[in-house]
Amino acid sequence: MVQRILQPGEIEGLDHNAIPRLLLPQPDSLFKARALRLRELAQGKIKGIPVDAGMQGYLVLMAALADAQAAVVGKLAPGAVPAADPDALRRAMQHRMPVLPVNGARPPVLRDIFASLLDELAATAASQPALSGGLTQVLAQLRALDAPDLDACADAVLDENGDNLNPMHAPFVAAALQILWSVSASELRAARVPDLETGTLCPVCGSHPVASVIRIGGQSQGYRYLHCGICESEWHMVRVKCSTCEQNGKIAYQGLDAADAKPFDPVTAKDDKLPNKANDPKKVARAETCDDCHSYRKVFNQEHDYNVEPLADDLASLMLDLLVGEAGYQRASGNPLLWMGRSEGSEGQQA
Ligand SMILES: [Zn+2]
Ligand SMILES: [Zn+2]
Repeated sequence: MVQRILQPGEIEGLDHNAIPRLLLPQPDSLFKARALRLRELAQGKIKGIPVDAGMQGYLVLMAALADAQAAVVGKLAPGAVPAADPDALRRAMQHRMPVLPVNGARPPVLRDIFASLLDELAATAASQPALSGGLTQVLAQLRALDAPDLDACADAVLDENGDNLNPMHAPFVAAALQILWSVSASELRAARVPDLETGTLCPVCGSHPVASVIRIGGQSQGYRYLHCGICESEWHMVRVKCSTCEQNGKIAYQGLDAADAKPFDPVTAKDDKLPNKANDPKKVARAETCDDCHSYRKVFNQEHDYNVEPLADDLASLMLDLLVGEAGYQRASGNPLLWMGRSEGSEGQQA
């Protein structure tokens, strides 16, 4: 028999049960979808994620930021974001390391992206009186950041180190990092991105996930992905594992209604996939808690709301953080668009 070499498309077609392990971002549509979702959340249109009045203004501001990100992505000149270095890609593959590590060098184009982002936001502030007050003020401060300031802020954002960070500046610097990293990530080929030793960090950039999302459609039916807060990639992790410590014995789900909390049960998890259980608002946003490491991370379920958006939904469901925090669980990692002030006693006030 003549041996025939299969083409990549044919190889993927051979195994219909293969789970896509990595979903690379599509920045052209991602930021637009996020802006839309943030506005709908702010307007109280999303069943399952009620938003209190105090949060509405912030969500509208973050929607303007996501719009500005979309505009900047749309105007990027071809090749403005340098392609990943082939040698670095090879080394990453060899040693199972992130291919676009956030702790590596930051290309100088970040400064241009940041400046363009501020220009877009200034135009928004000029045309939307409701936003202009606070936004104009923070834009003036952001424009005054020099290169070392911007670098220091980017370092703090990437290290999730709130100590030296102005919580009002951080989301804007994070937004510029998201543009740069998501555009770079979108140019990769998933097959050339190795799995890391740990399943809890982004295989593309090495950041922590913001939240989990249960995806439907195509081969992703009912599978859980972790969503990266910086490069916006999503990677697969089985549903029964804790996304922080990778243990699987003591997982439970907590909804916004405390009475819904129940221990993880593989039967119920399968039951979630039945079509007659779809579109249950109580299951759109839940926290997955782990009694091995006492952390939690939220999980948003596309089976119950097709348009779930991990970053936006995480931001809007602060109420769930409060509930789970009161129950004694620590949030596993932050949301780059929201920075709380340091808790009392932990900052250098006394120094
Ligand atoms: Zn990433
Ligand atoms: Zn755990």
